This record gives sequence, C-alpha cells and structure tokens, in this order.
Amino acid sequence: MAELKSRKTSGETEEFFELEYTGRKGLLCSIGNIRVMTDVSGVEDVTLDVAGEISAKTLPVKIGDLPESSALRGKRRPHMAENGKECTLELENSIPFGEEPCVARKIRVEEKLISCTLDIRMRASCRVKNISVGGLEIAGAVRKVIFPVENNKEVDFEALEEGTVFYDEKTLPALAVFETKKSSIAFAPGDDLWRWEFAGRFQGTSRFLMKKEDGKVKFLWEIFTLDPGVEEVPDGRNIRLTYLLSWKEKRAEKVKKLKCKTSFNMASADFQESFRRKNADETLAKTGCFACQGTENILKKFVRQRLENAQEGDCFAITNVVVGECWNASHLERAKAKNLRHQDLAALVDFRSWAKRQLGRKGADIELVTVEDSPLKGWMGFY
Ligand SMILES: [Zn+2]
Repeated sequence: MAELKSRKTSGETEEFFELEYTGRKGLLCSIGNIRVMTDVSGVEDVTLDVAGEISAKTLPVKIGDLPESSALRGKRRPHMAENGKECTLELENSIPFGEEPCVARKIRVEEKLISCTLDIRMRASCRVKNISVGGLEIAGAVRKVIFPVENNKEVDFEALEEGTVFYDEKTLPALAVFETKKSSIAFAPGDDLWRWEFAGRFQGTSRFLMKKEDGKVKFLWEIFTLDPGVEEVPDGRNIRLTYLLSWKEKRAEKVKKLKCKTSFNMASADFQESFRRKNADETLAKTGCFACQGTENILKKFVRQRLENAQEGDCFAITNVVVGECWNASHLERAKAKNLRHQDLAALVDFRSWAKRQLGRKGADIELVTVEDSPLKGWMGFY
C-alpha cells in the first residue's frame, strides 16, 4: 500500500498521510498524532483519535429493528491521493436480514478535516417506522461542549450527572465543539440540512440528542420516527447524509503565518442575484452561496487563472469568507422545489480540496480566510 514518509522541506517538517491494514482487515489512516481507524469494536465503527486524548467514534445505524452491528462486513476500499495530503476510505456493510438494507460510508481525511458521506440503501419494500443513522460517541476527558453559532453556549460536561440529556432538538447544531484540556473535536452537518430534516415530509419527526453516558458524550441521530396514529408506513428509500469533523491539538498548535500572494475577496466581489444566498424571509444576502455552481465557477476561475504561473511555495487565498444558510433550491439543482434549507460549508471545503490538488502540482497552495468574528475561524481548516 502507498506510504509516504515525512520529509523535510525548507527547514519545516511536512507531514504526509500513512495508510495501512490493521487486524481484522480494518484500515488505519494516520498523520502525526491523528489516527482514523475502522473496524476496532465492530463493523460500523470508524474512530477519529486525536493524540490519544479525545476520540469520536461512529455509532451503528438502525433501520426499524435491524441494527448495523448485525451486518456483514463488506468492502473496505482505501485510496491515497498522489500528493499524500488526502486519504479516502470507502466502507460498506450489508445487513443480511429482512429487506437486506446496506450502509456505506465514504470518509475523506485531509489536514484538520474529515468529510463523511453516509449512504443508506433501502428497497421500497423496506418499510419501517424508525430510522436512526447512529451518531457519534465522544470519549476522553471531555470538559466542555460548546455551540459557537448559538452565542457560544457552553455546557459544563464535567459537572453533569450521568444520564443527563443536554441537547434535544429537531435539528442538528450548526457547529458543536467537544473539548478536553488539551484537544478538541468539532462537528458540523454537511450542506444537506433538508435531508437531515426530511422526516416532516413523511409524517414523521426527527430528533437529535446529546447525553452523558459512561462519562462519554452520546450524540444520537434519530432521523425518522413515524408520528403516532399514522397507519401508512412510507416506502423505503435511499438516504444520503453528510457531515464534517475537525480537530485541534492545543499543545501542538503552531500558528502558521500566511503569506498569500493574491487573494479573492468575497466581501468586494459582485455576485449576480441567482448566485446569492437566500435568507429564510426570501431576502438576498450580498455574498454568493458556495453551494451554487455559479459561485463555485467564479472561485475555480480565480484558481485556474493563477495556475499557469504558480510557483513552488506560492499561496493564494479566498478572504472574508462567510459560511451560512441558504434557501434557494436551484443551487442544489432541484428543479421541483423552490426552497430547501442548506448551508454551504461542505461545498466550500470541497472547492478547497479541488484547488489544493490543482495548485499542489506546482507546489503552490490555497487557504480560506474567514471574516474576523466567524465561529468557524480555526475549524475545518479555515484561517
Ligand atoms: Zn444556496
């Protein structure tokens, strides 16, 4: 399997991912103190471990009465990017009972960021009253849970009694940070908020919970429970959900000084109306929605124009980035719907991955710099 060792470049240690098989044919993808492991405690288990101090582990999906933990382990397909800066794990588990649903995860690991796509494949005949897509178990000496987008609301996790539920909502938090003394992990939903909240369209409800159990955070994603009294159970359907994880190590925190050659300033750029973010009250924001192809094309053009003359060590930046919610369904190429609640964080990090691959061939790089008061500053690889 491909393995790229750390090498020295201009006095700095540059780190590359390493990828290997572990026992029980699990996979281990690591960089420095960071490890992403599969199949440690069960087929559904993917664990992000930060310096042995805090970890986030996926919990099993449950479709009606069928838990993913009863699934047969299917494909385990690892892929390392040529430049050693990105590693993708594709995992698949099929449940050999009932209507034999299948759970697949695609996990892309980059510097300070994991993007996860969770696919549940169900036949129409797979009619169930409850679907849980698992969730995350956060272990380590967690002291605080912070919700930066909700006015930095802080939960003193250490002081909580066992069994206490401290988050119980129909929607996911825009950002949740789990913090130990030395390290932290952040969670954010992907752009597909309308999919996480699909239950209402099928006479059901969704519920997202965080509670303290065995000293750990159990973050549970119950995306569908049929409303009581509803006779008709909806047909099974394929479900795709995305989310992001990021991390920080306090002791290893080095503030990288950005010396970017040229930048694209989101605050002064002129976006046409159809590209701009639409608020819940139908007013338009000034800035383009990154989930919109038109906005993405403008940013890609900026990168392409600089690619030809880019040199080793060059850095380009997108500045004054504001990530947010948008309701314009046309950004998602959904002709049928007019309004669909989404955000544009995942689209933006996808753009960055693309740009890093393009510029990386010339030894150049790109960074995303948020506005000064952004709750995302320092997370998901943002500056
Ligand atoms: Zn949008």
